Amino acid sequence: MLRIYDTLAKRLSTIQPLEPGRVGMYTCGPTVYRDAHVGNLRSYMMADWIRRALEFQGVSVHHVKNITDVGHMRQEALERGGDKVIAEARAHGMAPQEIARHYTDRFLSHERSLNILPADQYPKATDHVPDMIAIIQDLLRAGHAYAVAGNVYYDVSSFEEYGKLSGNTGDQGLREAVRIEPDPLKKDPRDFTLWKLGEPGRDLVWDSPWGKGFPGWHIECSAMSLKYLGARFDIHTGGVDNIFPHHEDEIAQSEGFARGPVVTTWVHGQHLLADGVKMAKSAGNSFTLADVESQGIDPLALRYLCMTARYSARLDFTFTSLKAAQRGLLRLQNSVWEWGRLPEANSGGESAILEWEARFLDRVNDNLDMPGALALSWKVARAALPGRVKLAALLRFDRVLGLGLADVAGRYEVTEETIASVEHRSAHRRNREYDEADAHRIEIEREGFVLQDATGETRARPKTAWERREDAWPSISSSSEVESLIDRADEVDFTIAIVASNYLDDARRCLKSALRWVGNSAVEAVVVDNCSTDGASEWLEERAKTDARLRVIHTDHALGEGAARNIILRQARGRIVVMLDTSVEVTGDLCGPIASILADESIGVAGPFGLTTSDIRTFHEPRGRTGDVDAMQAYCFAFRRSCLADVGLMRESFRFYRNLDIDYSFHFKDKGYRIVADPGLPVRLREHRVWSALDEDERDELSRKNFTRFLARWGKRLDLLTSSER
Ligand code: AMP
Ligand code: ZN
Repeated sequence: MLRIYDTLAKRLSTIQPLEPGRVGMYTCGPTVYRDAHVGNLRSYMMADWIRRALEFQGVSVHHVKNITDVGHMRQEALERGGDKVIAEARAHGMAPQEIARHYTDRFLSHERSLNILPADQYPKATDHVPDMIAIIQDLLRAGHAYAVAGNVYYDVSSFEEYGKLSGNTGDQGLREAVRIEPDPLKKDPRDFTLWKLGEPGRDLVWDSPWGKGFPGWHIECSAMSLKYLGARFDIHTGGVDNIFPHHEDEIAQSEGFARGPVVTTWVHGQHLLADGVKMAKSAGNSFTLADVESQGIDPLALRYLCMTARYSARLDFTFTSLKAAQRGLLRLQNSVWEWGRLPEANSGGESAILEWEARFLDRVNDNLDMPGALALSWKVARAALPGRVKLAALLRFDRVLGLGLADVAGRYEVTEETIASVEHRSAHRRNREYDEADAHRIEIEREGFVLQDATGETRARPKTAWERREDAWPSISSSSEVESLIDRADEVDFTIAIVASNYLDDARRCLKSALRWVGNSAVEAVVVDNCSTDGASEWLEERAKTDARLRVIHTDHALGEGAARNIILRQARGRIVVMLDTSVEVTGDLCGPIASILADESIGVAGPFGLTTSDIRTFHEPRGRTGDVDAMQAYCFAFRRSCLADVGLMRESFRFYRNLDIDYSFHFKDKGYRIVADPGLPVRLREHRVWSALDEDERDELSRKNFTRFLARWGKRLDLLTSSER
């Protein structure tokens, strides 16, 4: 039977259903005001593997997953009075219910794409407000709660076991977790809100014995789990960030109400990370299933990727590892497809299958060791067994893995016509007419099929979305994937360096204008297409076909600004590199004057838009003529490529462009180079759409993060400033 780590007992425990053969499981579900990111989805896959593992072993699972919809607020947001669903609805001019419905539907479709078995029930918080009120009333009667001025709080001191899940018991720990001003109505800062009075003008409020208001977040999970699974149930799942306060508070509520233990086993999944930190929308490092699919990557590749680490370990999400998972999945699918075409074995193999299955279950039951289970599946795939036996074993395993292996044949269907062409080609091969055979292969592949030679027979299957995408243009996942040419000799006079992230019109204007004014210089343009989705990728590819000076490098997800620019810095072969932002238009000979400024070897950087500072905190745009400045803005930033060996690349921790240019300017200053601005350079600034597309909060947040990074490194280096300001 499945043994799994129980966060409450703090040890592995064997799942022993309260009711023989039947398990009740509750999973904290999504808040539906935006798409779940792939980190959230990892949590739901964990619950799915638990469920599949149990069902595989003959236990039926009653699975409940709540939908946190309109009107409920996360505890942290609650105190600040913001409801994300309502805010999102306002921003789109939609009713909160419409937003919730839209994202619920999307969530369910993402679950389907990931082969997550649908829960038996998806109760919505808004449908259960009366249940929540009933529990709150009972908690009041039982002395676990108190009402003040239309609010009801849980009295943490009334529940002796508070803290048993998270270990977070003392005031100290709790105060640290609460960053906001304590609510003066609370008796104890540890107390949490069960019901909150609706502020005037709030649309979503419910009648209650304490006036019109709305419930706290934790109470919804108590209400819905108790209602659908009863006062005792087997398993409760969530991500580790749910342990405190959400589940600690849920235990206090549910056990206060049920007067005894409710959940037998608490299971928490570790986080999916990106760039080394927890993936979260607010951290700017989250990706959704739509981002995965836009790369032609099968959503099930994400499932495969999540299987490469145990649920209890952090897992770093990168597109590089996702693509590796996609390749692994495709190989497995192809094997299944091949075995499926073999003639039915007459008998035998049953004992081998049972033996492998026992080993497979050992892995799964060992604290959900999906990496072990996957490795074992590969062992079977490579074992010296008849193909049909391997197929039978893997299809059984897949009831737990959930990789959709049984559907492969359906996905790989081809038309009679293609089968005939393949047969035609095979006939040529049999006659040793290899040229003709090759011509047919090319033809078949052009039609979008892959030919696969297997066990004496050649078959065609349609290319997967991912293979089609890879054919169109290769893409990279990080700057380290491109070779560094920094030490190589110059090949041209100038490299025009542009990062295009959507805004096709801007990229086109910038690139065309830059190439129009190069005169007799030998120029190359290296453009990083930073995962555009508005047709910029296609336009650049087309343009590169007819203009040998242009080289395009595509990325498979939106890289940070520092990383994207570093791709060009590593690949540039011009004596002088001119970085241009797509918001600029070149209106005259730019290269000539830049070359003459940079002829002075003491000067490291040249450009039109300089900045000066006297305190490294506030930067000004100086008026007037050519002169020394402290930093050059990235709209147009030129330097000799030979400086790179000395100055280094940009810092990739700068994901957002703002202040990256100042930071990089200081790299030059630190190596003793001057920075010279010539406001007369023929460059015109157009609307900077990357900036105008952001709302004010986002701009501030992103800019501030970068500025903090900049200050941490250079804040004390007043010695680097130009004498004109000091
Ligand atoms: P939320 O929509 O924020 O309630 O999150 C839904 C589920 O995803 C919860 O169980 C969270 O614990 C979990 N979760 C949130 N962020 C991550 C992450 N980066 N990796 C894995 N699980 C996460
Ligand atoms: Zn919950």
